[in-house]
Amino acid sequence: MMEERADTVIVSKCMEFRIKPTMEQKVLIWKTFGCCRFVWNHLLDERISYEKMNKGKLLNTTPAHLKKDNPFLSEVDSMALINTQLNLNQSCSLLFAKGKAPRFRAKEKDKRSYTTNWINSNIEIIRIKDDENNIKLPKLGRARIILHRSIPDGWRMKNATIKETASGKFFISLTFDVEIEPKGNIKKFDRIEAFDYSMPSLVVSATGENDITADDIHWYRNLEKRIAKEQRKLSRMKHGSANYWQEKHRIGKLHEKARNRRKDFLHKLSRKVSDSFDAVVVEDINLQHMSQSLNFGKAVYDNGYGMLRNMLLYKLNEQGKVLVKVDRFFPSSKRCSVCHEVNHDLQLSDREWICKSCGTHHYRDRNATKNLLDEGKDILNRWASGDSSLILAPSGVLSEKKLHPQARYNVRQDGE
Ligand SMILES: [Zn+2]
Repeated sequence: MMEERADTVIVSKCMEFRIKPTMEQKVLIWKTFGCCRFVWNHLLDERISYEKMNKGKLLNTTPAHLKKDNPFLSEVDSMALINTQLNLNQSCSLLFAKGKAPRFRAKEKDKRSYTTNWINSNIEIIRIKDDENNIKLPKLGRARIILHRSIPDGWRMKNATIKETASGKFFISLTFDVEIEPKGNIKKFDRIEAFDYSMPSLVVSATGENDITADDIHWYRNLEKRIAKEQRKLSRMKHGSANYWQEKHRIGKLHEKARNRRKDFLHKLSRKVSDSFDAVVVEDINLQHMSQSLNFGKAVYDNGYGMLRNMLLYKLNEQGKVLVKVDRFFPSSKRCSVCHEVNHDLQLSDREWICKSCGTHHYRDRNATKNLLDEGKDILNRWASGDSSLILAPSGVLSEKKLHPQARYNVRQDGE
């Protein structure tokens, strides 16, 4: 029942802009990267020794005590250091529990970014002329910003991440709290699409109209091959030589190109799908867990399918539409989408199969998305008739409130 949704919901939005800092500002940004790394490594060291002495207890110190002996830390944005500490807290509580520890950061491999928070207008866009704008930042002062899009009225800034790309460009990504009014008038979900992850075609849709095929991303594969080739070249070069750094720079640029093209491609696909469907169904799999095997490309370690899902979610939500998450214990691959007989003999390597019960020939992934689509429709119908075992999150995700996989799907614990 869409009427039951709150009048407004707050969602996070992000916008990224190029900034052009002066040499002086660049130096301070680099210093900040270094200080964040310093804080990370020192606090991590303290925590690891503390954890060893007091098993299972977490030490929670702030960067403040480091400043006494290391006055250079006071030269940079203090929020950047606090955010580093908060990130470290999160990593420690996640990893210590598993008997692991976060990694120390090495200068060469370190991510070149830091995050600062918006407090009392300390970050502000200042208009100089029509196409000339500055952004005021803590410690840095005013830097030139290229506003290729205007920031809508009413967006409340939360934080800003300043980063340097491998090719030496600077960007700032601004996060905002945005209050949106879900249109909420969509009660009938006539047009529904389902997606599933697939190899090698990457993404398969139930309708077949929104698949991502190997053809669609051949450019990406080509770039990957080039990156791998340059990487091999790099490995033969003398570490730290002029040629080495030049080569490293070249590789950084290729990675950047690959990322941008992929993002652009996924934006277009998610826009097309969110505009032409009322709801999209996906499986509620743990993407982080699977990210190793779910790479959009192998060389570039990030996850295109996860990115697509996120883009779909916020683009659907903007229009008061929903993303339906089907319980991961739902036997989407093993069930025949025609007669619903479950094929327990189906192996992961079986890309095609024939249903013993009704004789239908299935392509594994397409069959799975058809099942997801059916299950998603069922969930939407239950939702429309007021089923209280479902919950619609403000983000626009519709899912089961509690997961009772065995009871609901009557499958073994090993599920799929
Ligand atoms: Zn069948």
